[in-house]
Amino acid sequence: MVDTGAKIWMDGKFINKQDAVISVLTQSLHYGIGTFEGIRCYKLNTGGSAIFRLKDHIQRLCDGAHILNMDQPFSIDELIDAHIETVRINRMDECYIRPIMFSGDGDMGLAKFNDIHIAIAVWKWGAYLGEGALENGIRAKVSSFNRHHVNIGMVQGKINGQYVTSVLAKREAIAGGYDEAIMLDTQGYVAECSGENIFIVKDNTIYTAPINSPILPGITRQTIIKLAHDLNYTIKEERFTRDFMYLADDVFLTGTAAEVTPVYEIDDRQIGTGKPGPITLTLQNTYFQLIRGELDNHQNWLFHI
Ligand code: PMP
Repeated sequence: MVDTGAKIWMDGKFINKQDAVISVLTQSLHYGIGTFEGIRCYKLNTGGSAIFRLKDHIQRLCDGAHILNMDQPFSIDELIDAHIETVRINRMDECYIRPIMFSGDGDMGLAKFNDIHIAIAVWKWGAYLGEGALENGIRAKVSSFNRHHVNIGMVQGKINGQYVTSVLAKREAIAGGYDEAIMLDTQGYVAECSGENIFIVKDNTIYTAPINSPILPGITRQTIIKLAHDLNYTIKEERFTRDFMYLADDVFLTGTAAEVTPVYEIDDRQIGTGKPGPITLTLQNTYFQLIRGELDNHQNWLFHI
């Protein structure tokens, strides 16, 4: 069981966790038509706590609703306040935040939405890819499951039902003794992982799949691209192949949950020296300084609670 806060924000009110229950006829439960987010609040080394890039996460939540053509009653500013209040009321100085927007019970056909509900929960969540992952890296495997075709999955949104493929890929990787699944697009190019974007470094150039490929537009991905520019690294948003990835000097994954996690082995092949490379380490370190409030740049990404 996750260690959740006692209060859940639901449709504009705080209720006790045990009262935050929904009907088995909830339409989204049956068809996966909903949208959600994963957001982190960090304790700052400069004092207090801040939610990282909250507005961008709320925007992506609303983008998911827009893609689904799902009207919801709250403004971005109201949702920002609701997230900050949820962290405050649960007295968490550091936590993972999970909003979900879904269609409730009513009609059970596919033709139209029922009333739209929004809930926000918080819980404690450490290193997503396991102990030692951030320091030493992980082992990954190219999945037998592809990332969605761009006219099958609406991949620009974090839409609930699309996570079935991620769950299948992740469980296949774990069952095979690996930590994470790397998913190719339907043309065979490297797209992303079950819950992270992927970057490789080759001859001091950083590569990641472009935004018009079937990847979630990761907020950590975009943060790393910005930090790489700040550090004067060359970064290319370009498709790359599986064998090009095997020959990389460094590989790392980015995500709100996974943060910046190095990859030391893919498909049983050592990547680079088998240890996190210097560019990965510099970007990881800069990312941690940023989320902990120690970087002068990008302070507007911190939403103090
Ligand atoms: N890809 C997928 C499929 C994801 O679920 C996530 C996690 N939200 C990411 C990439 C990384 O996105 P972000 O950096 O915004 O958390």
